Amino acid sequence: MWSIILHGGAKEIEPDQEGDNRRGCLAALEAGRAILERGGTAIDAVEAAIRVLEDDPTFNAGYGSDLNEDGEVEMCSGIMDGETLDVGAVAAIMGVRHPVSVARLMLREEPILLVSDGARRFAAERDAELCDPREMIAPQPLEEHKRTGTHDTVGCVAMDQAGRLAAGTSTGGLEGVAAGRVGDSPQPGCGYYAERGIGGVAYSGDGEHIARMALAARTMLQLSSGENPEGAIRIALRDLERIEGEAGGIAMDGKGRIGWAHNSRDMAVAYASSEIGGDRVYLRKSEEAAR
Ligand code: ASP
Repeated sequence: MWSIILHGGAKEIEPDQEGDNRRGCLAALEAGRAILERGGTAIDAVEAAIRVLEDDPTFNAGYGSDLNEDGEVEMCSGIMDGETLDVGAVAAIMGVRHPVSVARLMLREEPILLVSDGARRFAAERDAELCDPREMIAPQPLEEHKRTGTHDTVGCVAMDQAGRLAAGTSTGGLEGVAAGRVGDSPQPGCGYYAERGIGGVAYSGDGEHIARMALAARTMLQLSSGENPEGAIRIALRDLERIEGEAGGIAMDGKGRIGWAHNSRDMAVAYASSEIGGDRVYLRKSEEAAR
């Protein structure tokens, strides 16, 4: 069995943005699904899916990310191999096309997280795709993202045919934050986590709140005590609400069963598995229920 779930952010999706969100999530799903169907690894599927989302300015990751207080795109990404518990992550990195691929290059390195100039130097040394930082700014991102209002980090969790699990995130952070600010997304146990036999999870939302609650770690604890993926996210979100945090998460258990939930108004999610048959894409939980 293989299984994949991804999201394009816990946020508000206006009617004229619905088509782009659905199309973008489905395109990313196809990239991940193709790898899993032909027997590829969960890590490869997560990276491939997130790269598609990073290229799409509909989402706040990679090209078209939100701008910080200096009007610059600083990006964060993390990826985790549930088989080995290896983690690769970069934070506040500028001038790379695909933060998730730099995080992937970090995966087997001793440090788990590099930031800012050090992260970019690593990317250059490892021949990652570099660019002028200004090339990551999409036309009119300010207006678009201000209108969208809230969070739209992207994330993905996958299980491959060998039962290996992986999870990853990528984000441009939050609009107008301080230069150098790092949220939950590159921090394992906060924005994402994966472990064989237990499951995997990825979050989007108020980064400081998610980090303070170590939300991914809480979700993993729920999964390890037998809670189903949606239930595990819901319980974690209830904890988050104690500090008035807004978020949404996707999760998978050790057998590849999928679940998701959000307390944001909307959340763009797509998933597929060898059991489900056919791609699913939803922009809010109520759509899935109505199906
Ligand atoms: N969680 C991300 C951050 O705080 C924001 C988001 O989900 O869009 O950086």
